[in-house]
Amino acid sequence: MYDVAIIGAGPAGLTAGIYAARARLQTLLLERTAPGGQAATTHLIENYPGFPEGISGPDLMEKMARQAERLGVRVELGEVVDLAGSGRKIELQLAGGGAVSARTVIIATGSEPQRLGVPGEEELRGRGVSYCATCDGAFFTGKEVMVVGGGDTAITEALFLTRFASQVTVVHRRDALRATKVLQEETLAHPRIRFIWNAVVRRIEGEGKVQQVTVASTIDGKETAVPVEGVFIYIGMRPNTGFVSGRLELDEAGYIRTDARLHTSLQGVLAAGDVRATALRQIVTAVADGALAAVEAERYLAGHVKEW
Ligand code: NAP
Repeated sequence: MYDVAIIGAGPAGLTAGIYAARARLQTLLLERTAPGGQAATTHLIENYPGFPEGISGPDLMEKMARQAERLGVRVELGEVVDLAGSGRKIELQLAGGGAVSARTVIIATGSEPQRLGVPGEEELRGRGVSYCATCDGAFFTGKEVMVVGGGDTAITEALFLTRFASQVTVVHRRDALRATKVLQEETLAHPRIRFIWNAVVRRIEGEGKVQQVTVASTIDGKETAVPVEGVFIYIGMRPNTGFVSGRLELDEAGYIRTDARLHTSLQGVLAAGDVRATALRQIVTAVADGALAAVEAERYLAGHVKEW
């Protein structure tokens, strides 16, 4: 029986671990793949304070994980598939049949890239379809690639991909970008980035690997085949909350609702970071959430939080 079980080792979970360990709580941190979360897939983080030249996502997350482990946080591989109980005994069911019990739980499972849901996307995933330019960009050296989306992620990654690709085609469903102005200016002026405005992806095609993407105009429906070898999809995120659906109160988009101190609708369960219904999802807000969640878990265990 742990004092705190933290689910997810991204910025929120690792920070919760750091604070819980320093509060001398028996802490277990469960991660289904590798520590770091989405932040570890970002090539350059320029808005996390303390790094005037920016820092690579993998570097920052490796430092956070090392800090947590040095302070005694136990990180174990395990995917939580269900959560039940309340009032100082929460049981987590793990994929594969194991279970973990804890007096409090902090959910920090973050979010993952939204899928387009078009033919070819799943079949050609890892064969030209990617959600991570940092991981896969170098495979496309000298090749033509497509980026789908017009937000900060799509535009940041389109710029990053120009390091490798001979041309980057950005496909956006409107005629104006959502991304921050400074990113827009750089991208619109870039000689190797071109735009297909008012268009959506219909299908991704190729024999064993991506060879072309068919896009359709949102104005007249006209289809155009674009020959590319890679397609990077950045159309927003979806929360990793499938395992708590029906157990906790979620918002319309599936994010976990909390009060201002990060308690969820289930007593003893807190949520932190991108998985939470919140106004801003950044590394800096995730780490702040992680700290608050751990302090609240400690207060709850000490009996300072009202019982439901
Ligand atoms: P986002 O801001 O939600 O942008 C998603 C983009 O995909 C939008 O341009 C949207 O079009 C488009 N889109 C959504 N669904 C689509 C569909 N089915 N088909 C085609 N296009 C679709 O998501 P994000 O760029 O991943 O960013 C997520 C959050 O992280 C944001 O708050 C962002 O500011 C933040 N972020 C910040 C930084 C930074 O500070 N440097 C970097 C990366 C991300 P519409 O514009 O028409 O809705």
